[in-house]
Amino acid sequence: MEYIRLRGLGVSPGIAIGEVQLTEQVVFTNRKETISGQELDGELHRLEGAIERTNKQLVQIRDNVKAIVGDEHAFIFEAHLLIIQDKSLLKSLRGIIRTEKVRAEWAISRVNDKYQKLFESIDDEYLMQRKYDVADVLSKIYKNLEPTDTGKKEDGKEKILVARELLPSEAAMRLSKGNVLAVALDMGGQTSHTAILARSLNIPTVMGLRNISQRVKNGDVLIVDGTDGEVLINPPMAIRKEFISKKQKYNDYRKELEKIAKLSSKTLDGYDFSLLANIELPEEVPLAFSLGAEGIGLFRSEFIYLQSTTSPSEEAHFQIYSRIVKDAHPSPVYIRTVDMGGEKNLPQLKIEKEPNPALGLRAIRLSLRDRELFKIQLKAILRASVLGKVKVLIPMITELEEIKEVKLLIEEVKRELRQKNIPYDENIPLGVMIEVPAAAALTDILIKEVDYISIGTNDLIQYYLAVDRSNELVSYLFKPLHPSVLRLIKFIIDIAQGENKEVTVCGEMAADTLSAIVLLGLGLRKFSMNPIFIPKIKNVLRSVKYKTAEEVVREAMMLKTAQEIEECVIERILFKHPKAFLMGL
Ligand code: PEP
Ligand code: MG
Repeated sequence: MEYIRLRGLGVSPGIAIGEVQLTEQVVFTNRKETISGQELDGELHRLEGAIERTNKQLVQIRDNVKAIVGDEHAFIFEAHLLIIQDKSLLKSLRGIIRTEKVRAEWAISRVNDKYQKLFESIDDEYLMQRKYDVADVLSKIYKNLEPTDTGKKEDGKEKILVARELLPSEAAMRLSKGNVLAVALDMGGQTSHTAILARSLNIPTVMGLRNISQRVKNGDVLIVDGTDGEVLINPPMAIRKEFISKKQKYNDYRKELEKIAKLSSKTLDGYDFSLLANIELPEEVPLAFSLGAEGIGLFRSEFIYLQSTTSPSEEAHFQIYSRIVKDAHPSPVYIRTVDMGGEKNLPQLKIEKEPNPALGLRAIRLSLRDRELFKIQLKAILRASVLGKVKVLIPMITELEEIKEVKLLIEEVKRELRQKNIPYDENIPLGVMIEVPAAAALTDILIKEVDYISIGTNDLIQYYLAVDRSNELVSYLFKPLHPSVLRLIKFIIDIAQGENKEVTVCGEMAADTLSAIVLLGLGLRKFSMNPIFIPKIKNVLRSVKYKTAEEVVREAMMLKTAQEIEECVIERILFKHPKAFLMGL
């Protein structure tokens, strides 16, 4: 067996060794097989049987997925159940078999072609995407035409799933079964639904492997290294041993992280700090807390839209918020209202293409344009506010008027809830993201209107330094320790403290070791980050004295470049606290 080593994108860390299970992709037939008149009833019966089996499977999958990974992943199957019950689709299938006297396989293939063309001709991105759902359901019916085939596909053994790509429905169904050791895909990226789900379920995953699905067969041995983004096909014994020991090391490291998670959040000289988690899915809550999160500092609610094919209802929002709030209880959850638009455009929002999306109709600008949609979200947040500690967070505020408008809308929503006797937290804290330089400069004015602020350094740095946060060509200029950035952040933190208001940093900067020390030195006490970085940051902040950080920052603020600042911080901290960077910079 040939040994091949492939490089891809590690999207969920960890190492797994096991046998390949290729997902079977249905290829619709292009052979028109005709039948005789006598066979007609039998063929129609065969189709009805396949439809019935598919229907039952869909109900079962929906219920399993709901029970294991939650409602928000089960909605896909609700949509699929609607498709399989669609009268015109079923009529077309039966009609083709009857009039053309053909096998059901050919009828399904024809109907699929017809629907694909139909959806592709619609000038609406959202409707066009529905073609995948129709193909998904039709392929399930197609497989069920040969029912004997289905039972023997899975032997219940733990396997490594290999596929070209996984549809959200397949990802939810397969990964929630508990028998997937790892995943290796030809396609996909960091923020894909499957990646997020794999991370939250702790399943090592590598994507972007181009053609792995064609290079392996069922039963091949695979090593998936989700930490380094590598996949090894049929590795020799010596390499397997090497990876078994790497896997052991990784597992020990995870245990170490979980140990750190249990330690107190205090600097060496006894100052408290707190570490919160940025999440995108309710499934991430348990992982965040197991890594030491003291709350959910940022729930990026736009992910509710990214997973949905329609605009989510108030109930859909509410279900997700309640789950997070209950799971996090008694710790706080900061729910950020949708930060869509810009690069995070979605067909159901129907935003025209903009010449300059980063400066366009994004986040709160979009919410204030589409107030009914915004009110749906605010209502769901307020309803969830009685289930635990909820705070509302508004993204991309640029001017005072926006906060005033948000407050009016919140009052309006509260009034509507009161009228219906629906409980909510009357004192739900309202905060804004400081991520546009204009808002930063207005911190003294804006902060008086809100209960707290959260500094979004990803965007703040992007707009302040005029460096596109996702453009590799200019990423060398994206410097959190740029003296201008530090001056601006100092200005914001000083004002918040002067006003006695809570201030958090929720951009990636909070998860960077050196930057975290600098932020501590600037007086920051709340850091919110991707959960995986919490132990590292806890470890470094526990290893330094606040007083040292304060002193070092005072000195660093007098320097002229990011590089000088970086060198100064490393040198001074290492001198005083040689163990600070044990977990890496
Ligand atoms: C930020 O801009 O720093 C932030 C946390 O928000 P996002 O990354 O979702 O834009
Ligand atoms: Mg932002």
